[in-house]
Amino acid sequence: MNSIKLDAHAKINLTLDVTGKLDNGYHTVRMVMQSVGLHDNVTVEKTDDGQITLTCDRPYVPTDGRNLAVRAANAFFAHTGLVCPGLRIDICKRIPVAAGLAGGSTDAAAVLRALDTLFETNLGLDTLCEIGLTLGADVPYCLRGGTMLAEGIGEVLSPLPAAPHCLVVLCKPAFAVSTAAVYAQIDDHMPDVRPDTAGMCQALAQGDYNGVCHRLYNVMEAVTAVRHAEIGQIKDILLSCGADGAAMSGSGPTTFGLFHDPNKAQMAFNRLKAIFPDTHLTEIL
Ligand code: ATP
Repeated sequence: MNSIKLDAHAKINLTLDVTGKLDNGYHTVRMVMQSVGLHDNVTVEKTDDGQITLTCDRPYVPTDGRNLAVRAANAFFAHTGLVCPGLRIDICKRIPVAAGLAGGSTDAAAVLRALDTLFETNLGLDTLCEIGLTLGADVPYCLRGGTMLAEGIGEVLSPLPAAPHCLVVLCKPAFAVSTAAVYAQIDDHMPDVRPDTAGMCQALAQGDYNGVCHRLYNVMEAVTAVRHAEIGQIKDILLSCGADGAAMSGSGPTTFGLFHDPNKAQMAFNRLKAIFPDTHLTEIL
């Protein structure tokens, strides 16, 4: 096999809480992560020119060593000691960028999975997660996917019962948010109300869709939504169209609503898309 094409799925946060800060400056978190159908297509092909080249259909995504997919390939070869014969990576980008949806991390995870198959290294998920963690705290989750409780800096993962199936309308307003900048401000803006993570886990265990929707909550909104009125505006539109719950994902600015009723989801999608072109109608995986 010389080439492999994988779907690299985005994630949303059903909850996000910040629980502390480590000496190295990283924050510890407790969050319920959920994969959604929206995905990039990542193609990895062996070549024989000794180079790692990357192409992407979005001009504003870096294609050099700053791209997490390239960094993932370098980390794979460093870990295995294999000599890279040459690689061509292509990313067809559908996930909004710098949006709180782990777009770069999921591309990196897809490259690690692809290389493990292409080079028949059989590293297994645990080792791939170790390599992934050197690239970013969300990469181990992206390797595993599904519904997970993520603790530590995001890398301590406990599987949760799958979330009840529903539609998701995701909307990214036309500005990017730096994850690092939002985390740098959260200590001074921590809200008094915190997510009911245990309640969310219980609702998932009981397949209680309404319980999940009522517990969507992200402490990062105290930083990002306070600065950007668009997030409140998107939530208002989602809820006025009949979303069963709505929240911001990650450090934002993407804001999403969950819907049981496809007609309401379509109405929310149509209304938001007219204002914010980077709006997507997808589903919980
Ligand atoms: P997270 O939720 O993990 O914080 P995010 O969704 O907020 O991630 P990304 O889409 O990963 O953010 O983009 C963050 C930055 O990473 C962008 O500014 C972009 O330049 C850079 N980047 C590097 N590799 C990629 C990639 N494969 N796809 C998208 N952005 C990438």
